Amino acid sequence: MSDRIVRLREAMAEAGLDAVLISGYPNIRYFSGFTSDESKVLVTACSQTLFTDFRYLIQAAAQSPEFELVQPTGTVPEAVWEVLKREHCRKCGFEDGFLTVAEFSGFTTLPVEFVPWGKELSRLRIVKTAEEAALLQKAQDIADASLAEFLRQVKPGMTEREAAARLTYLGSMMGSEGPSFDPIVGSGPNGAMCHAVPGERKLQTGDLVVIDFGCIYQGYHSDMTRTIAIGPVSEACHRIYDIVLEAQLKTLAEVRPGITGAHLDGVARDVIASYGYGDCFGHGLGHGFGYEIHEAPRAGKKSTDVFVSGMTITVEPGIYVEGLCGVRIEDCTMVTETGCLNFVHTTKDLITIQTI
Ligand code: ZN
Ligand code: ZN
Repeated sequence: MSDRIVRLREAMAEAGLDAVLISGYPNIRYFSGFTSDESKVLVTACSQTLFTDFRYLIQAAAQSPEFELVQPTGTVPEAVWEVLKREHCRKCGFEDGFLTVAEFSGFTTLPVEFVPWGKELSRLRIVKTAEEAALLQKAQDIADASLAEFLRQVKPGMTEREAAARLTYLGSMMGSEGPSFDPIVGSGPNGAMCHAVPGERKLQTGDLVVIDFGCIYQGYHSDMTRTIAIGPVSEACHRIYDIVLEAQLKTLAEVRPGITGAHLDGVARDVIASYGYGDCFGHGLGHGFGYEIHEAPRAGKKSTDVFVSGMTITVEPGIYVEGLCGVRIEDCTMVTETGCLNFVHTTKDLITIQTI
């Protein structure tokens, strides 16, 4: 039996649950190995069942050999009920963040108490093993290599949308399962929108360009941001870059077990505020990543998460000045016994694309 299912059963027992219904792709994959969300997983104290349909039976048998495969002949809730009834389950956790109201309504008629348990379930993934760290490193290595090739291709006149498409394409060609999320490319004044949607604007000399993207390897997501310069940029933009870099480096040096997410966030915020840009850093410092691009723990003003070795956290301070530019520098890291392991190897010196 996989260690993941063993830990799940321990947590279920502690929470007084007889069963857990898993409906979100990240947890389906984490606990069963099955790589399609056209499925539900039910884990009880003594059985684990994967419900899927004919299209996926061969795949499911190969990926989830420890699971009983059920192809529902009626509705999924009816098939789930067969197992719950057989094992006298009265209380079942479910993933409240990954079940539509329509789907859930099919379960509410069953004589079982359904308890929202999505957050607790996902937190079972919060500490990564050495094997998982190796896969996260591989995901980031692909991203580093993709960015290196992208930097050889990018030039003035390329639109933000084309830049984003190239990043996704290069990632796929280098072994990524797909982008961790739709890449963010914000050029010039568009960079001030911290989650800019790439558009028709063409990169031009004098721009700072915020590039935020990630790759996926065996389900594990990476996440990095570099802000690059297209030719020489103004002194004001350069100074903002230097401030964000100082904040990022100081914060990285603070990552270690025992600190809270709020403390870490405060380190970056204090540096940025000391230069008068406090109001220009409007998002949290970072987030965990793994089977999801955003997962626990969090590093923000109100985060009470206490870091332990094996947790992942991004460090991504930024300054966004409307009408001028945005700068964000992001590394994805893992807390270790003595500090942190930075998965990202791309330089943080301001990368300048030669325009002549
Ligand atoms: Zn990012
Ligand atoms: Zn991020």
